[in-house]
Parts: sequence; structure tokens; C-alpha cells
Amino acid sequence: MSNYEGWPFKQLFFDATMKGGTIVYFAIDPEFDKPEPWGFRLQYGRSVNDTFEYVDEDYPAYNVCFLIDPLQRLWNRDIELYYRVELEAYNDTYYSVPQRPTQYWNKLDWAYTRRIRRDKVWEWMKMGIGVRGALLKRKIWGDKCPQCTDERMGTVMNASCETCYGTGIVGGYFDPIEYWIGDETGSVRQSKRTNMGNKQDVKIQAVGLGCPWIGQYDYWVNYSSDERWVIDSRKPIPKLRNVPALFHMNMSLVHHPNVIYKFEVTTP
Ligand SMILES: [Zn+2]
Repeated sequence: MSNYEGWPFKQLFFDATMKGGTIVYFAIDPEFDKPEPWGFRLQYGRSVNDTFEYVDEDYPAYNVCFLIDPLQRLWNRDIELYYRVELEAYNDTYYSVPQRPTQYWNKLDWAYTRRIRRDKVWEWMKMGIGVRGALLKRKIWGDKCPQCTDERMGTVMNASCETCYGTGIVGGYFDPIEYWIGDETGSVRQSKRTNMGNKQDVKIQAVGLGCPWIGQYDYWVNYSSDERWVIDSRKPIPKLRNVPALFHMNMSLVHHPNVIYKFEVTTP
């Protein structure tokens, strides 16, 4: 079993929310084999050895890959700020190595990225091309699917499995995250009409905000049509110190009866 400092957490990544809070991404070593549920909570401190306090979350979050500190704690004073993530799993508690968001970014970097995103959202609103939907981020850690994973090889045996949706991890995807895309070609809004009863390939390009991060093979669900699109590829534009302001995405429409349509997404 791996046993480095901070295990089973991998390195944390940071981004700024549109309102000025901090988003903290984390990842868990796929070898970590404590049974779920895994409860995550975000903590902050003023130095590595400080007493860490909980960000105002009273209860742990489950089935997520990032946590948010809604407060603009960072730029208030000339102070150091460290975050770490707590994991409670099977009566044990684990902590990630404390990390500083400002180690890689300064205030100007964050302001610049936020401005690009705000301008983009403003442009979508003005042109009426924003489409509201949900992002389904594919799970890469969690309980291995008992239905379709080969114990020894760990390979996915059944792409239509309704326990893991073909990912090999129980549940398949993290909880849906509201995510707008800019439909600059109009294809997302039109696909329903042009493809009625006609299962041809529909590939489109769209623009999305760089927060949260988009991964290849994540899905985007159109709230109004319930259509599910797989992200074939995405390119960050522009990318500042490893954090993308926006993504250019190539997406393909997935047709019924693909198992992803069994994944429940409720419109808030
Ligand atoms: Zn499965």
C-alpha cells in the first residue's frame, strides 16, 4: 500500500469562483480501497503547522471532487493561507498536505482569469447563446464496480453496466454540477429538431468556463432537452499558470439507449 505524506490524497489544485471564493480540487489515489461513503471537508490554516479550522461546512460532502470556500479570505490582508482536505472513510481520518493557492497564482492572475470568464458569460447573455445544463464528471476513484470489473485485471467488462455506467467505479459520475456552455454555432439548440428519429453523428464545438475543470469523457447534459453530450476533447484558452480561463470543447451527441441516459439528472 502506498504511504507517502498526505496519502491517499494527491496534490491539490486551486481556482477562483466567479464570486471571489476559492475552489479546491482534490484527487484520491485509485489504490485507496476503504469502502465508500467517503466524506470530505475543507479546512484552512495560516501556516502548515497551524490549527486548521473548517471552512463553514458543518457536514461532509460526498461524491464530489472539489470543495469551495465561498469567502474571499485570500486577499484580505497580507497573510498566508493554507488549505487542506479532510477525508473520513470507514472510521479513519486522512488529511491532504496543506497547500497555498498563492504559491502559483497572485492576485492579478486571479483577477485576469475571472474577468475573461465574466466577459464571456456577459457575451452569452447578450447574444442569447448560453445553454444551461449539468456537467457529469467521470469518477476515477471510489468503490470498484462488483458487476463488471474483473478482480484481477481491473478492466471494464460491460459498457452498459447500470451500476457504474461503464466506468468501472460504482456510481460512475460525481454529483451533477450546473454548467453553462456558449453555443456559438447554434447546434446544441437545434440538435433536437434536426435529429428527430435519426441517429446520425452530431458533433459540435462549444465554449465553456474553465471552472470546474472539464475532462475528456465527461458528459454535459442539456437541462431543457435532457440530451447527453460526451466531451471528445477540450482545449484550454487561454491557460495561465495551469489554470484555464475557458475551454473550447468538441462534443458528440449520445443517443438512446446509451446507459448514460439512466443516470438521473434533475433540473434544479
Ligand atoms: Zn459496472
